Amino acid sequence: MVYFVGAGPGAVDLITVKGARLLQEADTVIYAGSLVNPQLLHNCKSTCDIYNSASMTLEEVVALLTENTAKTIVRLHTGDPSIYGAIKEQMDLLAENGIEFEVVPGVSSFCGAAASLNAEYTLPAVSQTVILTRMAGKTPVPEKENIRSLATHQATMVLFLTSSLVTQLVDELIAGGYPKATPAAIVYKATWPDEKIFRTTVGDLATCAQENHITKTALIIVGNVLGNDYELSKLYDKNFSHEYRQATNQPKG
Ligand code: SAH
Repeated sequence: MVYFVGAGPGAVDLITVKGARLLQEADTVIYAGSLVNPQLLHNCKSTCDIYNSASMTLEEVVALLTENTAKTIVRLHTGDPSIYGAIKEQMDLLAENGIEFEVVPGVSSFCGAAASLNAEYTLPAVSQTVILTRMAGKTPVPEKENIRSLATHQATMVLFLTSSLVTQLVDELIAGGYPKATPAAIVYKATWPDEKIFRTTVGDLATCAQENHITKTALIIVGNVLGNDYELSKLYDKNFSHEYRQATNQPKG
């Protein structure tokens, strides 16, 4: 059985209970060495074969995954495997070979970054939408998803895989409609012991990244949810009834 396991954003205790148990039981672990915290491997059995996939091809990874179906094999991905995890191509090859697999979710780095920023991505009257995206790099982005057009919504935007392209990013964000003064943040290695947080604005994002030498392992977060203005939520509003609570101050009529 093959398990695609989300390792979480970095801190060793942010893997799920199920993911940690599977790592302890695994006969083989193949981990994404560029971003998975290697300390997570300390609880593996002494007999466990451990491979770093950073230098491997898809075919080499799948060869290991299909090698011995009687074993418990963990394919350990950073954050949550569904976000830029390149798992579909692995799952499809396993399915073709008749090999059973299961995906175990993880805490994505965009959630880790929100926690580190004490941020709520969805604030009433500010933004009720989170756009998770990236600038095109070696992997192209479909033209209809270009940053400029996504920026027209001025929703909360979280950018993966983009910290080496911040100058272009800023041009696109501004061309799309975010005012230069829109709050922004860079979170480097969210939840790792050497995490760094930089709060800035859209207009100053590129300078901030350059001055702090941020070129990888970072998320860029943009939007007014990082500011201070918002409306209180209806959920806890004393004037508002819902399924679980009667309003204490029900307006008449
Ligand atoms: N599946 C992962 C994302 C993999 S893509 C997830 O759910 O988080 C790799 C990109 O994710 C990196 O280039 C960086 O932009 C971001 N990333 C991953 N871990 C991070 C962390 N701890 N802090 C900040 N960014 C991170």
